[in-house]
Amino acid sequence: MTTLGTLARLIAAGQIKLSEKGDLRLFDERAVIIYFTILEGMLDSLRDVFGEEEGSRLAYSIAKEGSKRYIRNVITKLGYKGEKAIDFAGDMASVGGWGKITVTSFNSQKKHATIVIEGSPFRVEGIAKHPICHFSRGMFAGSASVIWGEDMDCVEVHCSAVGDEFCEFVLERHGELRGKMARKQLPLEGS
Ligand SMILES: [Zn+2]
Repeated sequence: MTTLGTLARLIAAGQIKLSEKGDLRLFDERAVIIYFTILEGMLDSLRDVFGEEEGSRLAYSIAKEGSKRYIRNVITKLGYKGEKAIDFAGDMASVGGWGKITVTSFNSQKKHATIVIEGSPFRVEGIAKHPICHFSRGMFAGSASVIWGEDMDCVEVHCSAVGDEFCEFVLERHGELRGKMARKQLPLEGS
């Protein structure tokens, strides 16, 4: 389904609700809408205080932990599992404005997936030296950790900020990525 189609379906099904007291609910989970500029400012502050590498790692960890909580609540409510849960998480992120997200490969046995984002909101002035969508890969890692019941990690192997056509992410079990990708990517998490 298209991103707009998904949004229309959610509104029609009453899955997006706003009360007179400003309580916004998406699948009965409280939601707030923040402008991307605010999130960008928060992430820039992390890098200003902790440095590029540690700040990026924190952005990843924050998104991973937050997404675990969100996906745990929503998936439990809906009873989705496996591929359906992954597709649902991707659809919700697309509707949320994180770019057009497509799960391009998915293997529940091996616990391996690849995901593409077209139109990622993360940008830098000029051309970045490394992939920069740390918050997005954190969201994928957190979601997959809950869906597969195992600690998962995510790295970005292509990024529009470095001049690639789209952003591409690889999800694997925690630890498995570390050796493979250490040369290409900033550290995954503090450990
Ligand atoms: Zn990217």
